[in-house]
Amino acid sequence: MKSDIKLIDKEGKRLDGRKRDELRPIKIEVGPLYRADGSCYIEWGGNKILAAVYGPREALPRHIQHPLRAVVNARYNMASFSVEDRKRPGPDRRSTEISKVISEALEYVILTEQFPRAMIDINIEVLDAEAGTRCAGLTAAAVALADAGIPMRDIPVACAAGKIDGQVVLDLGKEEDNFGEADLPVAIAPRTDEIILLQMDGHLTVKEFDEAIELAIKGAHVVSELQKKALLAKYAVAKEVKQ
Ligand code: UDP
Repeated sequence: MKSDIKLIDKEGKRLDGRKRDELRPIKIEVGPLYRADGSCYIEWGGNKILAAVYGPREALPRHIQHPLRAVVNARYNMASFSVEDRKRPGPDRRSTEISKVISEALEYVILTEQFPRAMIDINIEVLDAEAGTRCAGLTAAAVALADAGIPMRDIPVACAAGKIDGQVVLDLGKEEDNFGEADLPVAIAPRTDEIILLQMDGHLTVKEFDEAIELAIKGAHVVSELQKKALLAKYAVAKEVKQ
C-alpha cells in the first residue's frame, strides 16, 4: 500500500531507529511449559509467541494416520487480545493459511518416516502481535520441536524482508508492514539454505525480489544462531546438573 508516511528518514534510519539490514531485538527461551513435550517462548520486536509441541504420539482419529510416516499438524492462533482491534476467537482464513504453510515447512525437515501412524502437534499461540508473526512462530516452533527431541534434518528458521519507501529492508515492523510496499517472509533449512516457506505480499521487481531473498536468508542465519544459543543454554545447564 502506497502512503505519504515516511518510513525511512534522510539518514537512512527507520521509524524505530534500525538500519535497513537490522533485525528487531529477539529473545528465545526454551522449555517454559511443563506439560508439553517441547516448548519455546519467543519475543521478536513487539511479538510475543508461545510454541508447544506434543508427540510423536498415536495419530487419532485413526483415519488421519499415514502408514509410512508421521502427520505434522501445526496450528497457528492469534489470541483475541494480541492485536489492537480485538480479534474474533477461533480459526479464520488467515490462520488456516499460516497453519498450512508452517506445517508443510516443518514437515519437510522432520524425519517423519521414523514415526509411521503417529502425529506431531505443534501449537503456536500469538499473545502479542507486531508483524512478522508467522516467521517468529515458525522459528519458535522449530526450537520447541528440538526441545521435544524430535529428529530433524536441520533446525528451520524464518525471517522476512520487504520494501519500504522504495528500499529493500530486513524484518518489517508493524507500520512498515501496514504502509510499506512489500513483505516477503522466508523460512530456510539453514545448513543447506533450502527455502521451505516463501510468501509475498505486495510488489517487487525481479532485482528487488532477489535482493530481498538474500537479505531475508542472511537475517535467518542470525536468528538461527540465537536458536542454537537458547537450546545450548538449556541443555548445557541440564548436562552440568546431571554430572
Ligand atoms: N494483524 C492484526 N489483526 C489481524 C491479523 C493481523 O492486527 O487479524 C496485524 C498483526 O500485528 C500482524 C500484522 O498485522 O502481525 C501482519 O499480519 P500478516 O498477515 O502480514 O502476518 P505476519 O506478518 O504477522 O506473519
